[in-house]
Amino acid sequence: MLTRTIFILLTILSLVSPPLEDQQTLPPTLPHQQSIPDDFILEFYPVEPYHAEDVLSLRVTYTGQEDLGGKEIILSFAENPGVPLETTTFSHHDQRAIFYWFLNTEYFQPGFIRFRFTIPDLEETWTAGINLLPTPPDRGARWETVHTDCCTLHYISGTDAAQDIESLQAVVQQEVSSALTQFFPDGIPSDFALEHPLILNIVPIAVGHGGFASDEAVVTYSHRNWLGSNFATLIHHEIVHVLDRQLNDEGPRPRLLSEGLAVYLSGGHYQPEDIVSRGAALLQTDLYLPLTEIVDDFYAAQHEISYIEAGAFVTYMVQRWGWESYIDFYFTLPEGDSNTEIISTALEEKFGLDLATLESDFIAYLQRLESNDEGQADVQLTADLYNAIRRYQALAIPSAHFRTAWWPPIDQMRENGIVGDYAFREKSPSNIIIESLFQDVHQAREQGADAQAEAVLDQIHTYLDSIERAAGGHSHYTLGAPLPVQPSQKISP
Ligand SMILES: [Zn+2]
Repeated sequence: MLTRTIFILLTILSLVSPPLEDQQTLPPTLPHQQSIPDDFILEFYPVEPYHAEDVLSLRVTYTGQEDLGGKEIILSFAENPGVPLETTTFSHHDQRAIFYWFLNTEYFQPGFIRFRFTIPDLEETWTAGINLLPTPPDRGARWETVHTDCCTLHYISGTDAAQDIESLQAVVQQEVSSALTQFFPDGIPSDFALEHPLILNIVPIAVGHGGFASDEAVVTYSHRNWLGSNFATLIHHEIVHVLDRQLNDEGPRPRLLSEGLAVYLSGGHYQPEDIVSRGAALLQTDLYLPLTEIVDDFYAAQHEISYIEAGAFVTYMVQRWGWESYIDFYFTLPEGDSNTEIISTALEEKFGLDLATLESDFIAYLQRLESNDEGQADVQLTADLYNAIRRYQALAIPSAHFRTAWWPPIDQMRENGIVGDYAFREKSPSNIIIESLFQDVHQAREQGADAQAEAVLDQIHTYLDSIERAAGGHSHYTLGAPLPVQPSQKISP
């Protein structure tokens, strides 16, 4: 027994410490070894596992104390450091440097690709890389487009959206015409025409809370949508954001009011609901967050509570002053140093009161509404549910969490025929289990089985606790197969 133990110990020692003469000939880092400095985070996209044919992007986030805004970072193959693949600069705003689609791996063989990073101003250099796995057989997705009277819809072939595109077109058409009627309740002026068709992208992955918009809207659609959002409500919300910008592209747009408008005109947040009585329920359950405290950093506030409040607040203002006065107030906001100042100045000018006074009136209005036990339980459950969804995103798929989301410019992706960032997102078994449980929670909520929904949420948190404890552990993707190191050029043609 003793001999066997000594033999095992010797075997382990021989594995972890090579003979002395070998140590002197070893390179400073092993081929697959990363040497990323502590205050940098590297994220390659589309998220792992990476496959030959992926068009790779990379986000470098600096978490240290210095200001790297405007400083250069150079990316090259580790084996060919003299020839930069691309150079970019850190953003002043968030200390991030992004290399969009810097490498098309279409003609690369599977293997480990090693990159070299240099920040000349810091005299900082390191190497890091990824395992490129063989191309899976189901790659062939591409962007497809349909045009309706109002809109251009882009979606990805082979997805649930592609299968249901006719019914989705009808929903979009319906929601756009209803949103236009809301903006022009007395009839759409004869000289009004959308400057451009509304551009909507329907993607299979769940990013953020299921939708986002700038000049174009991007919404999630999937038969297994674990975010639990209603497509019509979501699309209406994002259409309002796009129309809001098209109808008025000047002046500030405080989030409290722009999100409030989108929730108000969509008739709910994730699904149709009585937004004012939900606002009252927040007050009755002490979940209410003072608007004066959240207005200047709206996205930092608890998401579901802040959106319900914003929707109820806009509803209240429209009821008090009428749509015409309200939209005139919203579309003519003056510039200011903070959202509080912007909104208060405009309120004083138009209606003779500031935000704090208006909020007191709003609270008094909510207090006069009848108390509703079911509504109170549901606002709490909604907040619990989406807190759990965000915790899951932060721990397991940070590329989907709204604070760290990977949402590259979708128009450029279409132009370049790239679908990967919004399409193939391979799920690990734990993703599948947890996302299925979220669907169970949505189903239980729909059936009014709140206790069951809470029980499933507890179970999800238990799984998330174990993911949190294992933080920093290697995923099977990172460990990968014992793949060879890639030469620095593509193999063919
Ligand atoms: Zn929104």
